[in-house]
Amino acid sequence: MSSNVDQIKSRLSITDLVGSYIKLYKAGANFKAVCPFHNEKTPSFFVSPIRESWHCFGCNRGGDIFSFMMEIEGVDFSEALKILALRAGVELKRDDPRERNEKDILTKVTESAVSFYQGKLKEEDNARAYLKERGLNDDSIKNFHIGFAPTGWRNLYDFLKSKNFSDTDMEKAGMVIKSPKGYYDRFRSRIMFPIFGSMGQPVGFSGRIFGEESHSESTGAKYINSPQTPLFDKSKILYGFDKAKNTIRQENTCVLVEGQMDLLMSQQTSITNTVATSGTALTEEHLKIIKRLADNLILSFDTDEAGLSASERAVGMALAMGFDVKIADIKEKDPADLIKKSPEEWEEAIAKAKPFITFYLDKIISKFKDIKDARKEVEKKIIPLLSKIKSEIERSHYVSETAKAIRLPEEPVVAELKKLLKNNKTEHFTSHPQISSQNQVKIQKSRKQSIEDRLLGLILWQRKNTENNFKEVLETVTLKCVDLLSEEGKKILNTDEDELDENMKKSYNKLTFEAELSYTDSETLDKEAEILLAGLEKESLKERLEELSDKIRQFEIAGDQENLSLSLEEFQKLIKLL
Ligand SMILES: [Zn+2]
Repeated sequence: MSSNVDQIKSRLSITDLVGSYIKLYKAGANFKAVCPFHNEKTPSFFVSPIRESWHCFGCNRGGDIFSFMMEIEGVDFSEALKILALRAGVELKRDDPRERNEKDILTKVTESAVSFYQGKLKEEDNARAYLKERGLNDDSIKNFHIGFAPTGWRNLYDFLKSKNFSDTDMEKAGMVIKSPKGYYDRFRSRIMFPIFGSMGQPVGFSGRIFGEESHSESTGAKYINSPQTPLFDKSKILYGFDKAKNTIRQENTCVLVEGQMDLLMSQQTSITNTVATSGTALTEEHLKIIKRLADNLILSFDTDEAGLSASERAVGMALAMGFDVKIADIKEKDPADLIKKSPEEWEEAIAKAKPFITFYLDKIISKFKDIKDARKEVEKKIIPLLSKIKSEIERSHYVSETAKAIRLPEEPVVAELKKLLKNNKTEHFTSHPQISSQNQVKIQKSRKQSIEDRLLGLILWQRKNTENNFKEVLETVTLKCVDLLSEEGKKILNTDEDELDENMKKSYNKLTFEAELSYTDSETLDKEAEILLAGLEKESLKERLEELSDKIRQFEIAGDQENLSLSLEEFQKLIKLL
């Protein structure tokens, strides 16, 4: 563990941190709360101040202050580290102070530009009228800090200069461009949409052409974005994410649109869990950011050819990342147009979004009158999408939907899919038509496993309890149980918590919480531990007997008399121990 992490942990209390986001209630040595990460009415979210950890029994999330920050703010570890370091007043050692300083200055440049453009929009009646005409209300214009970059070459440059920013910093922030004749403004005669990072800090702009220059040939694209800067990486920034992240998490669903206007308009309706890719192709990084907060994705891209193919690509990527993907079926050109016409229809389109497979199959079936043509289209469009799905169970569910729609048995669909998977060198595919995604098999924990879990939890919990008065019993039980544990159990018991990998850490944390919650009032922990150990011994013995009877059957078939009698003898011996 790095010393940065240790230092931060020692300065921040987990209850203060979590308590600043959600209401905590005292529950014995712990605190409990309604989980912020899944929908529930009865609290199953627990925080342990002693172990500096948290766990939710409802959604099985858990960890320390860093993982809490990652989950609740939708940031990655390094960002969580930065936020918490700031909160704890810890100077990050590996963070180059020069780099930090530079980012601070560039953020200030960008902030100044935001307020400059906002001021200019107030003077620009036509631009404001245009935004109103598109359907934006005053709140949106204010909350999203929309502004205007005036015509002319050095308006922003002169303003930033008057604020004592250097030419290099302005250029690095992407606000001005260097030419042989000096620096000039990158954005001119444009409506300016600031782009914010996940913590709400401005990182760049997207500017839409407006006014005088929009008629000249030399101005270029309808929209231009800030270039790549130390603050702005367009492959990692989703427009509107800072405002949408809370509802995305609460609803476990994210609505993804293409344009800023789509997003701004959607934020004026009840669909506030919306983000936009905003003028750039969707990347895996974008989806990773969403995946930290939600498992469900609803796409609503433009309905023209370009939008449809962008949407298909997005579906493929999202499926490969394990999202449950739906598509909103809208008739207008894009969400912004629909919302302007009727916000209610947009809300309904989202509520009735179709699973991607239904959406595409419906489209294909209604487009092609001849079923043979529809089948060809399915082979071209649907099968490649199905090949992206990770879960075989889900995939087979979609296979059966597809086969039904094109009135064929599942086998030919599976065969085509197999061909593709073979080419993709993806894992082997088998059809499980009997299992649909709604009906997933939950793997039943064996009796032995659940006893092991309880015993392990008890040991791990009491290990950290310095006041326990049954150290000796605990040590004996620990020694005796080790050989009976599963491989994972052994590892968890014998490894220092910090050395465990993420999954094991999570199990460790969960087992400890479970034990604490069920044994906290018990005054006979030593007895409990011995009972669990006896149970574990018995279950292990049963397992051994099972194996032995398998062998006996095989020896019988093979006519191996010698081994048969040896095994029978052992069987008799073991069964007496039960
Ligand atoms: Zn939960």
